Amino acid sequence: MIIATRYTVDYDETKDAYKIRNMEMPSCPDCGMLLSGYDTRRRHAIDEMGIVRWYLLRRLHCPGCQKLHLELPDFMQPKKHYEAKLIKGALDGSSDTCPADDSTIRRWKLEK
Ligand SMILES: [Zn+2]
Repeated sequence: MIIATRYTVDYDETKDAYKIRNMEMPSCPDCGMLLSGYDTRRRHAIDEMGIVRWYLLRRLHCPGCQKLHLELPDFMQPKKHYEAKLIKGALDGSSDTCPADDSTIRRWKLEK
C-alpha cells in the first residue's frame, strides 16, 4: 500500500467519484522501482458530517516485483471507512463529533 501525502482531489462527473491525483511519483515499498498506473478501485470515505463520498483509488503496478499496490490518500485509513482524523479524534478523545455509532468506535478501541 502507498500512502499519498501530496495530492489533489478532483470530482469526476462521468465516474461520479473523486479522483486522487498524486503530486509525487510513487515508488515500490518493496523494491523501490517506479510504479505505474494499473487500474482503479472505488472506495468510500465518511467525513465528520457523516457524508459518504466515493473515491477512485489507483492500483499501481511494480515492474520489478510485479506486485500491485493500492494508493491511499493520507486522510483515509487502511480497511476503515471513516476519515483518519475522525478515528484518531474518537480514540484519543480530542473530538466527540464522530458520526460513527458507538459499537464502531468501541471496535476501533479494541483494535488499538
Ligand atoms: Zn516492487
